[in-house]
Amino acid sequence: MKFANRIEKLPPYLFVEISRKIAVKRSQGIDVITFAIGDPDIPTPPHIINRLREASLDSRNHRYPETEGLPEYRRAVSQWYKRRFGVSLDPDKEVISLIGAKEGIGHAALCFIDPGDIALVPDPGYPVYSVGTLFAGGECYWMPLLEENGWLPDLDAIPREVARKAKVLWLSYPNNPTGAVAGLDYFQRVVEFAKQYDIAVLHDAPYSEIAYDGYKPVSFLQAHGAKDVAIEFNSLSKSYNMTGWRIGMAVGNSEMINALMRVKSNLDSGVPQAIQVAAIEALTGHQDAIDQHNAIYKRRRDKVVHALRQIGLKVQPPKASLYIWARIPEGYTSSEFATLLLDEKDIVVTPGAGYGRQGEGHIRLSLTIPDAELERGLKRLASWKIPPPKSKG
Ligand SMILES: *Cc1c(COP(=O)(O)O)cnc(C)c1O
Repeated sequence: MKFANRIEKLPPYLFVEISRKIAVKRSQGIDVITFAIGDPDIPTPPHIINRLREASLDSRNHRYPETEGLPEYRRAVSQWYKRRFGVSLDPDKEVISLIGAKEGIGHAALCFIDPGDIALVPDPGYPVYSVGTLFAGGECYWMPLLEENGWLPDLDAIPREVARKAKVLWLSYPNNPTGAVAGLDYFQRVVEFAKQYDIAVLHDAPYSEIAYDGYKPVSFLQAHGAKDVAIEFNSLSKSYNMTGWRIGMAVGNSEMINALMRVKSNLDSGVPQAIQVAAIEALTGHQDAIDQHNAIYKRRRDKVVHALRQIGLKVQPPKASLYIWARIPEGYTSSEFATLLLDEKDIVVTPGAGYGRQGEGHIRLSLTIPDAELERGLKRLASWKIPPPKSKG
């Protein structure tokens, strides 16, 4: 049997070795604590589940949904964007439902990328931006995210001929994995850049509701003229602890939304309607859960940052997102460091290199871990003496 090149070309799965070790340890009854996965541990709020339960009984919701989503869902998204960001969206032309943001991100590449085309992709970044590009036959031009630039791509560092050739620019703030945030002034510069070079901007914003210390993330669409060049992906996954239900949205430029609709309608049949009804409840019902969850994540964030500093790692508390991005000591690769932490303390973290070459030198810890486990993990961590790296001479 012969598989397509696009499968062969997939980057090797970095966590194979770590996953194998976790499985062995767990089979020996060892309490392995994982900070690796960004998947909220707190259940979906009860008012949303109750609405889902009701909607599941209605036989109209047992049939194929429309690709673009229920008109009521698109209206709820439009109202939510207005209320939350002051952004006006036509629910019929500028909003589409997604089977989670990930689905839309993957399919978006098929809307813009022909073989040989260039996508501007952040490094480190969520892997789907580059994998989608690869699947469509395109090439990634990596935009390094550097601490000295606040983990924002330096647009001036992109060579002119690359910018002229590029079809899309991927961005995501609040950022996974760095936890960085972007302000409207930066988004405004991206809009000007995109107009200058005729590039479509694809902004991924699933952490727009997860923020701390009074900080409120902005939408890319708040920038002047953003709707001329951009769509934004958002999701109920992280905001409302709904990762398992698979629902999100793309919003913004109507031609871009229409292109996504045309690709999607040929490949999937939309989001189950009962899930859309639950999502309407999430977006239009009371929003108490957001502040409650952020208070929980903030407590966890402060504890994790404290524990990491205690063992000598360099780390800043993020203003938003679910992630702590910590610099590891010189002399280790992120993979070696993560393996050492697993071997010596039965703690799992994500090696930064899994998000791209520039992620090297860092590890990512997720705050989506139940409090009792988090405490156990941090206690173990606090007693850890990081051994000096083996000399590689
Ligand atoms: C979690 C995540 C997503 C995917 O969200 P879904 O709506 O669950 O598919 C997309 N982008 C980033 C950066 C994420 O961290």
